[in-house]
Amino acid sequence: MSMNRRQFVQVAGSAALLPLVGMGLTGCETRSGPARVAVIGGGFGGATVATYLKKYDPKLEVTLIEPKTSYMTCPGSNWYLAGLRDAKSITHNYEGLKKRGVNLVHDTVSSVDTDAKTIKLAGGKSLSYDKVVVSPGIDFKWGAVEGMTEANAEKCPHAWQAGAQTELLKKQIEGMRQGGTFVMVAPPNPFRCPPGPYERASMVAEYFKKHNPKAKILILDAKDKFSKQGLFFAAWQEVYGDMIEWVSGIDGGKVTKVDAATMTVYSDYDNVKADVINAIPAQKAASIAFKMGLTNESGFCPVNMLTFESSLKKDVYIVGDASIAGAMPKSGHSASSQGKICAAAIVNDLAGLPMEPAQHANTCYSLVAGNYGISVAGVYSLQDGKIAEIKGSGGVSPKDANPEFRQMEATYALGWYASITKDVWGTGA
Ligand SMILES: Cc1cc2nc3c(=O)[nH]c(=O)nc-3n(C[C@H](O)[C@H](O)[C@H](O)COP(=O)(O)OP(=O)(O)OC[C@H]3O[C@@H](n4cnc5c(N)ncnc54)[C@H](O)[C@@H]3O)c2cc1C
Repeated sequence: MSMNRRQFVQVAGSAALLPLVGMGLTGCETRSGPARVAVIGGGFGGATVATYLKKYDPKLEVTLIEPKTSYMTCPGSNWYLAGLRDAKSITHNYEGLKKRGVNLVHDTVSSVDTDAKTIKLAGGKSLSYDKVVVSPGIDFKWGAVEGMTEANAEKCPHAWQAGAQTELLKKQIEGMRQGGTFVMVAPPNPFRCPPGPYERASMVAEYFKKHNPKAKILILDAKDKFSKQGLFFAAWQEVYGDMIEWVSGIDGGKVTKVDAATMTVYSDYDNVKADVINAIPAQKAASIAFKMGLTNESGFCPVNMLTFESSLKKDVYIVGDASIAGAMPKSGHSASSQGKICAAAIVNDLAGLPMEPAQHANTCYSLVAGNYGISVAGVYSLQDGKIAEIKGSGGVSPKDANPEFRQMEATYALGWYASITKDVWGTGA
């Protein structure tokens, strides 16, 4: 069968799969051509892996599979809710990746045969690969709290995957009656973006302060503490007075039921009638990770923290929110940092070279107001086989900073966003 190597995606279905390549190699060259790496998911993790595989070894055949043709980032989506950014400025297409030599397939992976090394797409096509990287993000534990179902998310949006849900929540915030109550159900650990719910409450307050000054924001939380808590509390008081109230798990904040029909949120704290309910469910790795047999009892994917290869399946790598990456928080910055290391590990492995331990970094900026930023940063290394924070490497913004310092951090937040999105998709704002 004479076939162009570029015909990585087969239109005729699995019966016409390319012959497998990449076995017994001495470099990235195979017997009949370069090794093929498929990447599932074009978010922070997957788009970074695809980009850096091509940077590290331009000869590799890298194919990124992602259903969306444009990707709205969760980072910046809270700013969008406040009216500080428009949708376009936080939405990225895949033209930058194409220019970097990555093959793009806009489809959903329906299954992967990790023995035969073949991928089936929802659209009916099939691919074969030598190595596959999985960065599909999260799904939700629907029904873990009564009434927090996929159907009810159309009325009580989570907006924890950016896009239509973000637009829905924005409309509800803008349409809320004067003096109404916005209730957030904050997710239990572990979840993507530990400071995210609290930045969201701040950004909703930023909007209400201008357009609905008597509105109330109530955060009902199963947890007893959260990221940058002291900084958020001080800032909320300073900027929004008593607009935002947070109820911890120990004070009855654990929600037991959300009734979308009557717009009532039930907890030991109180049964609260809400005008807008932002119900963010508990989280787990996205469904393809389960289908591929990559998850353990935690609902996430154990990996070798040196290379990000699955602990359960050979030649399968997992980065980003779906992975269990030691002390690294589930963030876009972490996913991207992991993506670079994973790309290096794959290139090394294909070349028959060992992977050397590397360091990771993460910074999470949060805007408390348009001119008020706070941050948390950390540097991580492999310690006894696990990714752990290097003692003294990070920390949070100072408690008693002046307004100029807060403004400066808000500016840095925008700079962080522009630079990471440019790095990942080549289309930074
Ligand atoms: C409100 C909010 C604010 C945030 N702010 C920040 C921040 O300021 N800084 C920060 O670092 N992080 C932030 N995050 C976290 C960040 O968004 C995530 O950690 C990051 O997106 C994880 O990257 P990922 O690649 O694991 O998943 P994602 O970015 O979610 O990408 C997964 C991709 O996989 C695709 N996919 C899923 N299943 C399949 C399949 N079967 N086939 C093909 N494709 C598939 C999806 O379509 C998706 O595009 C925030 C999150 C939220 C919710």
